[in-house]
Amino acid sequence: MRYIEPHAHMVSRVTDDYIDMTTAGCQAVCEPAFWAGFDRKSVNGFYDYFCQLTDYEPKRAAKFGLPHFSWLCINPKESEDLKLADDVLAIIPEFLDRPTVLGIGEIGLNKNSKNEVKVLEHHIELAASREQMILVHTPHLEDKLKGTRLIIDALKSDRRIQPERVIIDHVEEHTVKLVLDAGFWAGMTLYPESKCTPARAVDILDVCGTERIWMNSACDWGVSIPLAVPKTALEMKRRGHTPETIDKVVYQNPLQFLSQCPKFKLSA
Ligand SMILES: [Zn+2]
Repeated sequence: MRYIEPHAHMVSRVTDDYIDMTTAGCQAVCEPAFWAGFDRKSVNGFYDYFCQLTDYEPKRAAKFGLPHFSWLCINPKESEDLKLADDVLAIIPEFLDRPTVLGIGEIGLNKNSKNEVKVLEHHIELAASREQMILVHTPHLEDKLKGTRLIIDALKSDRRIQPERVIIDHVEEHTVKLVLDAGFWAGMTLYPESKCTPARAVDILDVCGTERIWMNSACDWGVSIPLAVPKTALEMKRRGHTPETIDKVVYQNPLQFLSQCPKFKLSA
């Protein structure tokens, strides 16, 4: 099996996870900027985090021949403080030209607050003005449908944003169609407890098809499984999907989306 892990928070993971992923057939890993397991108090914390994402992690992954890429932003969970968000947005441009940075992400909403929406709009402006691709985080549980609608409205209101260059992640049964019908890519996050289980993800594929959709493990500080993508590929196999269909979802689709950024290359 070959697959791409398009959304994994490797800074929260041990090196053995890189070994397991490459053993399972992982060809590349992409890491959106997100919460670091604690709220950072100053812009300097983000500066160091962006250095970690663009320098240290690519080197750690390269030891196992695994290309590592990243997306940069201040995540919605920490963007309630508008002054801090402004300060972080101001340092992002100096990192955007680094060779493994794919775009702006994971931006979006967490609690759908006014300040989160403001910071989301600032990120969309930054992405549009710098012609960057976008990776979006959608809220959890009861806030998800409303948050997904707000995010799509914000993206659609900027005519410079091309939907095919945006992936909206953490879709579930009640939001996936909204995202795909608006022309965006959709990501399914495979969690053992919340978000999509492997069985639910395969159900969604059965209903929605396999165009403009990918799966990821997120593998962050919560209960999560770094090998969730290959495990779900096995669930697809068990349910009778062909090797070609499985390869499309776990390898070809992320390759197609990510290759819109010329910096995305599979050779380490
Ligand atoms: Zn994430």
